[in-house]
Amino acid sequence: MCDGRIGVYPGTFDPLTNGHMDIISRATRVVDHLVIGVAVNAGKEPMFGLTERVDMVREQVALMKNGDGTIIEVRPFTNLLMHFVEELGASLILRGLRAVSDFEYEFQMGAMNARLNPRVETVFLMASENHQFIASRFVKDVAIFGGDIATFVPKLVEQRTMRRLQEMKGASAS
Ligand code: ADP
Repeated sequence: MCDGRIGVYPGTFDPLTNGHMDIISRATRVVDHLVIGVAVNAGKEPMFGLTERVDMVREQVALMKNGDGTIIEVRPFTNLLMHFVEELGASLILRGLRAVSDFEYEFQMGAMNARLNPRVETVFLMASENHQFIASRFVKDVAIFGGDIATFVPKLVEQRTMRRLQEMKGASAS
């Protein structure tokens, strides 16, 4: 693939939030090549399909200021995260940590992945204070109940979320 340190930032990104974008820009300071892995995650019944989520992340990442020359790629994955990481030749998994509530899940996932491949390290990054509380799950709830999500997500995500809600309303009315 390329020289340098390759890291994977996996997630569902349903939808992409300013919290995710904060972690993505921090991750570019840690690795030379960042692969944002968009998980299919059918179990979570996503609001957006896999291709839509990949497109949203790609479009937003293309608008990012990326001064330090880190290569950023956005790829879907449907297999086991560790297999995806190994296929890419990555040495790091990057995850974001919000409140204490994330800790147990992330701790277990990190430990499982360490068992699957001890050569791959999981690194946790923290978003800035004003982004830490943002979660895709709550963004969807706020939007569904008519609240303003403009400060939680990038503009294009806001527009697509509003459009998706209109489509959902149209579908349930017919
Ligand atoms: P997953 O389904 O894997 O949890 P998410 O899209 O919800 O996927 O999150 C992907 C990663 O981004 C996770 O490590 C999550 O903790 C992190 N993350 C999400 N929102 C924030 C935020 N506001 N601040 C820091 N990390 C975040």
